[in-house]
Order: sequence, then C-alpha cells, then structure tokens
Amino acid sequence: MAIERVAVVGGGLAGFAAGLALTAAGAHVELFERSRILGGRATSFEIDGVEVDNGQHVFLACCTEFINFAQAVGMGDQLHLQARFDAAILSRSGKAGRLRTAALPAPLHLIGSFASYSHLGVAGKLRIARALAAALLGKSDPSETFETWLVRNGQGAQERTAFWDPFFIPALNAAFDRVGAADAMFVLKTAFLRDAGAARFGFSKVPLAHLTQAAAKQLDAAHTSTAVLSITPNDPAVTVSLSNGDTTFDAVVLAVPPRQAERILGDPQRYGVTNLDRYDPYPIIDVHLWHDGGSIGRDFVAALESPLQWIFEKEPGYLCCSFSAADEYLRQPTAELESLAWREVQTFLPSLKDATLVRSAVTRNPEATWLPRVGAARTQQRTSHPRIAIAGSWTETGWPDTMESAVRSGNLAAAALLSPAGRV
Ligand SMILES: Cc1cc2nc3c(=O)[nH]c(=O)nc-3n(C[C@H](O)[C@H](O)[C@H](O)COP(=O)(O)OP(=O)(O)OC[C@H]3O[C@@H](n4cnc5c(N)ncnc54)[C@H](O)[C@@H]3O)c2cc1C
Repeated sequence: MAIERVAVVGGGLAGFAAGLALTAAGAHVELFERSRILGGRATSFEIDGVEVDNGQHVFLACCTEFINFAQAVGMGDQLHLQARFDAAILSRSGKAGRLRTAALPAPLHLIGSFASYSHLGVAGKLRIARALAAALLGKSDPSETFETWLVRNGQGAQERTAFWDPFFIPALNAAFDRVGAADAMFVLKTAFLRDAGAARFGFSKVPLAHLTQAAAKQLDAAHTSTAVLSITPNDPAVTVSLSNGDTTFDAVVLAVPPRQAERILGDPQRYGVTNLDRYDPYPIIDVHLWHDGGSIGRDFVAALESPLQWIFEKEPGYLCCSFSAADEYLRQPTAELESLAWREVQTFLPSLKDATLVRSAVTRNPEATWLPRVGAARTQQRTSHPRIAIAGSWTETGWPDTMESAVRSGNLAAAALLSPAGRV
C-alpha cells in the first residue's frame, strides 16, 4: 500500500519541515500539536497585548535548510541576515571589542579583526590561533568533552572569557563538560573556519510563530490542542490515538522531544529506536525589557562575564536578554531575574544608565535544547518500521539542537518514509 495519508505529531519546525516535504511529494498530511499554539520551542505568544518570542532565536548563514524552509513558506523576506559577520563584544568595564569578517577566504577572513580584538592579549590570541589550527587539522574523539578539549589545547581563563564563552555557551547551550568536543568542533568549523560568509547572524523580523503559522497553510490540516497519546502499527496502516478517539493513517512522523517520543512509542526498541533515554534537557531563560532610553544603535551585543550572554534589540526601547545554559537561574523569582537583567544591561550599555525600565517579562524554557550524554549516539530518523519515522532537532542530523537541525531532521524523516514507497 502506498503512503498517501501521513500524520505528523508535533507542530515545531521539525514536524512542519517533514509535513512540507511529504506534501510536496503528493501526500495528504495532517499535523497534530498538543499546544494551542504552533512552533514548539521556536514560538511566540502575547504578554500584556504584545507578541513576544519564547526566547531570542538566532540562525547563521550556514543554516541553509532553515532559510530554505522560511522561503518555502513565503517568509524568506521576514528573515534578516547580516551582510557580513560583525559582532560587538562588551566588557563589564565598558571596553568594546569587535569581531568581523574581511573580504578574504576562510579561515583568513577573521584574522584582521582578531588581531585587533581588544579583549585578548597577544599570548591569548596565539593560544586561540593554535587551538583553531588544532581544530582544523585534528580528529575528534567521540568520548571527549569540549571541556577536556579546551584544557588539552591550552585554553585558559582569558581565552574562555573573551572567545569561547560568548560564542559557544549560546551555540551549545550547556556547560562545556556536558558537551562532546565533536559538537563544538562542528560549530567551530561550520560557522567560523570553512566559509567566510557562514557565521553571518540572522534573526526573524516577525514573531517566531508566524513561520509555522505560514507553514500550516500548506498542509491539509494542522490540529492544535490535540495531543497524540500513542501510535500503533496496524498493518498496513498506523493507528494514531488521540484523547477523543483513534484515527488511522498510512504513516506517521513523530516530531516531538525524546521523552514524549518514548511515551508515544511505548516500546521504542520494537521499532529499532535507540537512545531516547540518553538525552538530557538544557534550559534557556530570556528576560524582556521595555525601557524609555531609545535605541542602543545595534541589533545585538555580547556581554562578557555576565550571566546573560547576549542582549538583542528587538526594536528601539525593547531588549531581549538571553541566559543560555541557565540551570542556576531557572528557579530564581521573576522580579529578581528582571532586576538582574536590567542591572546588567545598564552596566554594559552606559547609554541606558539614566533610562527607566517601563515593563519587563521573563520567558523560561527548562527544555530549550536536548543533548545526548557525551559518547551516546543520536537517534536516527529512520526506524525499523517502514511507516514510522522520527524527527526532531535532537535527532542525528550532524547539527546541534537548533532550528537548522529541526528542519534537517524533518526533511530526513520525510525521505525515510518516502524512499521505501518509491517516491524519492
Ligand atoms: C528560548 C530558546 C532559545 C533558542 N535559541 C535558539 C537559537 O538562537 N537558534 C537556534 O537555531 N535554535 C534555538 N533554540 C532551539 C530551537 O528552538 C529548537 O531546536 C527547535 O525549535 C526544535 O524544533 P523541533 O520541531 O525539533 O521540536 P519542538 O519545537 O520541541 O516541537 C515539538 C512539538 O511537539 C509537540 N508535542 C509534544 N508532545 C506531543 C504530543 N503527545 N502530541 C502532539 N504534539 C506534541 C510540542 O508541543 C511541540 O510543539 C532555542 C530554543 C529555545 C526554547
């Protein structure tokens, strides 16, 4: 029996990417999302009448499948992408450093601004240059943590504070002893060392949920507030159990986080799905600050030696401060987080010293990203059952848990379903 009708479980980017690919192949696709809003971990909602993202999301120019996804749903022109990589990096004392690319091929494109980067002395720069060369030439050991790699490559406090922390804590969203060195090397090579244009920062100019809302229009149906309880192969169909009854499809893409995938499958081993219990969640907190101080004159700045790594200006008078790998702040009361963030903002951005905080809000995401324990393999999209595929930013795509990985995983899951049916 051909795959004509497919259920996608999960209305995040992975589910929608899978849904679009299956629709393009001619399938009837219905998506089931347990929340009342679409987008999953890349979403937005109203707080006091203003639509805010659940947290600032950034992509890089090398995130080609995410960019293609946005274009495919007609939102390509709502993405902003830097013309060249250019980041302001501020210290607590008010010193400003800047890293930006020159018109040179990689890896020479960063040398000029790195040489004049004010947060590092000559010895620190040389140590980083040696580590970058080792990253380019060396092979990663899957059991090595990024922390061990940094120590092995002579990276001290200065190099960490000025270079590794501001870029790699947000990119990996975990303490370095919880991340495989291979993941960090992938980010380093893909963003900074291989292609001069790759590290250009991008962000959505519209609230994030608009992306998946646009994608929903291209599917046959997107059922919100509809949780899937389980799926059961019932050859040649697959039964999808909802709280209000069962329905059947020819195939299912399960595009939910690992714990939910385990629950919905019941017995993952039965489908050859491995390692769902080897993932841990990592939190991100964002503090949204509305003030009367006008524009800071930049889209974003990095803050060195601060609990928040990056400050983004969403619009003049509205800043979004992101705390990555934020375990220790997760249980901190909202009012404390708001005043901490505002204090940090006024320290790093002296132009706001006399500004007044008008309003603030905190978005907490305890399960912002999922990481396999160091050495554990990520889960594959293809299962041993030809009518069930797994998607999710946390699955094996070669990328860390990001929007790019989500879209890639959806495309791979669709391909896994379509290839045995002869559609690709
Ligand atoms: C605050 C924050 C900041 C981030 N920053 C960045 C960033 O800067 N750059 C970047 O690339 N990535 C970032 N990420 C990560 C990025 O958001 C995720 O990698 C990506 O959105 C995950 O997409 P997904 O579709 O794989 O999973 P999800 O978005 O988690 O989608 C899974 C969906 O399944 C639904 N679901 C679960 N169980 C069921 C069920 N039983 N039935 C039906 N539906 C169910 C969930 O409600 C959810 O909508 C950030 C994440 C957060 C939270």
